[in-house]
Amino acid sequence: MSALDDLPPLRDVIRRHELSARKSLGQNFLLDLNLTARIARASGPLEGVDVVEVGPGPGGLTRALLALGARRVIAVEKDDRAIAALGEVSQHYPGRLAVIAGDALDIDLGSYRTDAPLRVVANLPYNVATALLVGWLTTEAWPPWWQSLTLMFQREVAERIVAKPGDDAYGRLGVLTGWRAQARIMFDVPPSAFVPPPKVTSSIVHLVPRENPEPCTVAALEAVTQAAFGQRRKMLRQSLKSVFRDPAAALESVDIEPTRRAEEIDVAGFAALARALSAERAAKN
Ligand code: SAM
Repeated sequence: MSALDDLPPLRDVIRRHELSARKSLGQNFLLDLNLTARIARASGPLEGVDVVEVGPGPGGLTRALLALGARRVIAVEKDDRAIAALGEVSQHYPGRLAVIAGDALDIDLGSYRTDAPLRVVANLPYNVATALLVGWLTTEAWPPWWQSLTLMFQREVAERIVAKPGDDAYGRLGVLTGWRAQARIMFDVPPSAFVPPPKVTSSIVHLVPRENPEPCTVAALEAVTQAAFGQRRKMLRQSLKSVFRDPAAALESVDIEPTRRAEEIDVAGFAALARALSAERAAKN
């Protein structure tokens, strides 16, 4: 019995379905239903909301999302053993859980949006967590299909996601995130909360899309930040040589001193550089 529902304890589910955790699938399960409820609540009230969950595993977070009122949960899972384990949860919440077998990296999750807001809530497999986040932040259509993202990352990755100019963790991921979303760390989760425990602390990050991101293309923004942070200790007039014909002139054209370093430049500055790069490339063709 659990506090949230009268489904069997997750340890029983794991034993019956022989769901021993596999490192190759980034499997670190959460068995404490108070904690999974806290994560589900971190995404905001769930009534009338559809949720995409990546990697439901034995279903602890899935159960919390459903018990707390999500209209529908679309759970994408790569491990067939976990898919079998989720059958009981589906039966308990008829018509509200759709389990999709497959790799979340290959699935257009936006295609599950119907007439209700769609959020992503997930204890992500760490090996694909950053790739999934970058994919969700760089969708061509904006505002995106997701209303918010509430995601577990390793603490070190969470710090890079929310980092601002001047922070040690500020880099390409912080610029990309800050460009398109407002992100904050909601709370930390210690290794002891997982089975098996990972080596490091984790954090729940909540992201909401910005309505009007600075205008620029993903490709130009990534080209500029890659060059700038690839040599983060160098002055920009030097580090941007690989992308601009005349980096000092490009920097001056957007009112950035050529002697500045990448870690000092905010999102608006990088977006201005991205626009200058697009203009230079367009003029060349
Ligand atoms: N949500 C469960 C929990 O909190 O206990 C499990 C989280 S575990 C960190 C990550 C889950 O993602 C595992 O169930 C794993 O099988 C699944 N997974 C790993 N790679 C995946 C992928 N590329 N697409 C979908 N699911 C994946």
